[in-house]
Amino acid sequence: MENMRNKAMAKWNLLLPAALLCLASPAMATPFVINVNFTGGLTASQQSVFTTAANTWMSLLPNYQTGISISPLTINAAGVNIDGPGGVLGSAGPNSLVSSSGFWLAGTGSMQFDTADLTNLETNGSLTAVILHEMAHVMGFGTLWTSNNVYVNGSGHYTGANALATYRTEFNLPGAAFVPVELGGGSGTANGHWDEVDGGGSATGRVSALGDMQFELMTGWLNSSSYISKTTVQSFVDIGFASAADVPEPATLASFATGALLLLCFKRLA
Ligand SMILES: [Zn+2]
Repeated sequence: MENMRNKAMAKWNLLLPAALLCLASPAMATPFVINVNFTGGLTASQQSVFTTAANTWMSLLPNYQTGISISPLTINAAGVNIDGPGGVLGSAGPNSLVSSSGFWLAGTGSMQFDTADLTNLETNGSLTAVILHEMAHVMGFGTLWTSNNVYVNGSGHYTGANALATYRTEFNLPGAAFVPVELGGGSGTANGHWDEVDGGGSATGRVSALGDMQFELMTGWLNSSSYISKTTVQSFVDIGFASAADVPEPATLASFATGALLLLCFKRLA
C-alpha cells in the first residue's frame, strides 16, 4: 500500500512541471520563424547580415497571435546584377499570403538586391539597416496594412490599435488619432512607411526616447544609424504577430527543461 502511494506520488511529481509549463508558456501560439533561403549572389558576410536581421525580428516577435496556424516564413534572398551602383537598389516583399484567424500573413517572400549596391552598403555601414528594413516589408510592414484593415491607401493615417496606442506614449503625443504614414516619395515609398520630412534630411519634431522619427528604421528614407521603435514592433501585433514584450516568461524553469517540455506541449496540441 505504502509502495503504491509512493509510486503514484512520484508519477504526479514528474507530470506536474510539464502541466504547469503548458499553462504558463506561450506554447499554444505558433512561433514566428524566418527561414532565409540564399539563392546566389551574396557573399558570406552579406548572408550573415540576413541571418542577423531574421534573428532580430524573431526575437522581437517570437510568436504569431494565438489561434494563427502557419508554416515558417521562407524568404528567398539573392544578389543580382541590376543597374550598377545607385539607381535601383532591389526589391522585397511577400510572394504568397496565408489567411489565418482573421489576418493576412506572408507565407513566402523574396529579397533581391543589386550586387553593386550591396558592396557599397556594406562599405558605408548601412547594410544591416537596409536588410532589417526590407525584411520588415516581407513580413507585412506597409505591404499587408490594407489587407489587415489598419490603413487606407492615400489616407496617410495608420489606425492599427496597438501601434497607435504605443505611438501616443512613445512619441509623447497623447492626442494622436493616427500614426502618420508617408505620402511623398512616389510609389514604393508612399503608403508603406512612417511619415518623415520628404528626402529624409530633416528632423520631424516627433521624438521618442531613441530619437527623432527621422532615424526610425521604417521611414521611407534610410539612415545608416537607425532604431526600431516600439511603435513599429506593435504595428506587427496589429497584423498578427505577438511581441516579446507581451509574452509572459516561464522564468522559474531551467532553460534546457523548458525546451524539452515545450516540445511535449506542442505535440499534445497538434
Ligand atoms: Zn521601405
